[in-house]
Amino acid sequence: MSIVLQAVTKRFTSAGTPAVADVSFEAPRGAITAVLGPSGAGKSTVLRIVAGLEVPDSGKVLIDGEDCARVPVQKRGVGLVFQHYALFRHMTVRENVAFGLSVRHVSRKEIAARVLELLQLVQLEHLADRYPAQLSGGQRQRIAFARALAVRPRVLLLDEPFGALDASVRRELRDWLEQLHAGMGVTTLLVTHDQEEALELAEHVVLMFDGRIAQSGPPGEVYDHPASPMVASFLGGANLLTAPVFSGRADFGAVEVPAPDSARDGELLQVFVRPHDLKLRRVRGKHPGLAVARIERVKRIGGYVRISLALPGGESLTVESPRSEIDELGVAAGEPVLVDLRAARPFTEPAPH
Ligand code: ADP
Ligand code: MG
Repeated sequence: MSIVLQAVTKRFTSAGTPAVADVSFEAPRGAITAVLGPSGAGKSTVLRIVAGLEVPDSGKVLIDGEDCARVPVQKRGVGLVFQHYALFRHMTVRENVAFGLSVRHVSRKEIAARVLELLQLVQLEHLADRYPAQLSGGQRQRIAFARALAVRPRVLLLDEPFGALDASVRRELRDWLEQLHAGMGVTTLLVTHDQEEALELAEHVVLMFDGRIAQSGPPGEVYDHPASPMVASFLGGANLLTAPVFSGRADFGAVEVPAPDSARDGELLQVFVRPHDLKLRRVRGKHPGLAVARIERVKRIGGYVRISLALPGGESLTVESPRSEIDELGVAAGEPVLVDLRAARPFTEPAPH
C-alpha cells in the first residue's frame, strides 16, 4: 500500500507561510519513509493529514491509489503511534492491546489469540498483566506499537515514536523497529527530527523545512548529493566555502572545483565538505590541494576528535577524525596544520518537478 501526497497545502492562520505548502511525495509500498526536519517544519501536520486528523486546504492524499478525501480516520486503515504513549492507565497491557479489537466486535477467543500474537511480535508477552505505570518508557512504546498493529492497518504512521526516550533506549528501539518492520513489511511513515534515525531506518527520506520539501530520495542520495546548504547541514553537518567562478572553475585557494554549466564568471559558488571527509597532515613542504590552517580548538568526544580550524582567509572549518588518527598526528590548539580540501563538492542542482 503506497501513500501518495499530491500538492498538499494546509494553513492554520490566514497570514504568513502555510504549515504545509505544496507537499508532494510517494512513500513506497512496504518501505519506511522518514519525514525529517527541524521542529515546526510541518512534519506532524503531514502525518495528521494522511491519518485524516486534519483536512488539507488543497491537494490529495492517496492510500494504495484510493483518494482519501472523504474517508474518515477510522476507515483509512491507519495505525498510529505518537511520542507520548497514549495507553489507558487503568487497563492492563493485554486490555490496552485488545481495545481496538473489542470495539470492532471481534469474538473474545479471536481477541485473546490476536493479543497474544501481537505481544509475541513486540516481545512483551510476559508483561501482559501489568499496568502501563509498571512498564519502562521503551516497553510502553512497544505496547503502543502492538495496539496500533492490532487492527491490521494498511499503513503505519509514527510521529516521533521514540522522541520521549533517552538516547540508549532510542538506539535499542531503532533496531527493534527495523526488525519488526522487516517481519511485517507494512508501509510506514516515520516522522522524526533525528537525522541519524532517518538515515538508519528509512529507505526513503523526505526532508522538510518551513512547510516545504527541501529534498527527497533514498537517504544515501540525499546525504551524498544535497541540493542546498540547509540540506547538507541538517543531514550530517557540513562546512561551507564560497569562492568566485572564473572560466568554469571556482578557486578555493588550495583547491579548484569545476563549476556547474549554469554558473557565470564572477558568480559566487558555494561548496560543502563533510567534517569527517577532511583529512589533516603535518605542515611539510608544498602539497597541491592542501591548505595551511590554524588549529583553534581540539575537542575529544569519545572515539573521535572534533577540531576547529581557521583558514588564512578567515573561514572556519570543522574536522572530525578518529581519535587514533589525531593521536598519531599529535596536533594541538595554536599550531598550523595542512588540511585536504579535495573532498569539497558543489551542491546538486535541484531536480525539476
Ligand atoms: P513539526 O511536527 O515539524 O514540528 P508541525 O506540523 O507540528 O511541525 O507544525 C507546523 C507549523 O504549523 C508550526 O508553525 C505550528 O505552530 C503550526 N501548527 C501546527 N498545528 C497547529 C494548529 N492546530 N493550530 C495552529 N497552528 C498549528
Ligand atoms: Mg511534530
